[in-house]
Amino acid sequence: MRLMVFAPHPDDDLIGCGGMLIKAVRAGWSVRVVYLTNGEAGGTRVRPEELAETRVGEARAAAGSIGVTDLVFLGQPDGTLRQTPDLLVQLINQLRIWRPTTVCAPHRHDAHPDHIATHDVVAQAVASAAGPWFPEAVPQRWQVPTVLAYEVWTPIRHVAYLEDITEVYDDKLQALRMHRSQLSSFSYDDLVGGLATYRGTALGTGRRAEAFEVLRLGGPLITSPGTADR
Ligand SMILES: [Zn+2]
Repeated sequence: MRLMVFAPHPDDDLIGCGGMLIKAVRAGWSVRVVYLTNGEAGGTRVRPEELAETRVGEARAAAGSIGVTDLVFLGQPDGTLRQTPDLLVQLINQLRIWRPTTVCAPHRHDAHPDHIATHDVVAQAVASAAGPWFPEAVPQRWQVPTVLAYEVWTPIRHVAYLEDITEVYDDKLQALRMHRSQLSSFSYDDLVGGLATYRGTALGTGRRAEAFEVLRLGGPLITSPGTADR
């Protein structure tokens, strides 16, 4: 199985589906994270180019700590992310070449313009990768079997799937804390802890969870036992 996560900024991958990432790695899935921007707008104390470099390094360290080493940085503009023909072709190529069985992206109503733009361009790329369109992209079509949407800044209204992350929660938080440049702006412990506890109550006392919308379901989800193909 192959999980591809699209993140608008370095850290959205861990906030939204870090627990799922950890579980996927442990289940033997291949995992790739594609960052659309380098997060250069996430601070005011240093120059944007410097911050971008810092945040890419933090993303590598944080993802590496949970065993995710296949990272792609597309370097789109942070804060003004837009769907462009070139970006769409880049995403179609990611899908057609790497052939993920599960794709994760922010949900459509997550309250940040870059998150909404990411949702829209990923949805467009998933639809386009499966058809005869875009001859400028690599020609092999790919239909992504399962597409999930995660939450960061706005809770999902109609939750279709809860990933139980109780056992991996500490590792998720530890990885997030490696995004040090962001720690002065807000507390990952509060943000992620609040969401995980809120979502976990549906699974039982003391459980923690990540919530997802299911945009398409054509394959096993992470919690299913025995889903590794290698
Ligand atoms: Zn973000």
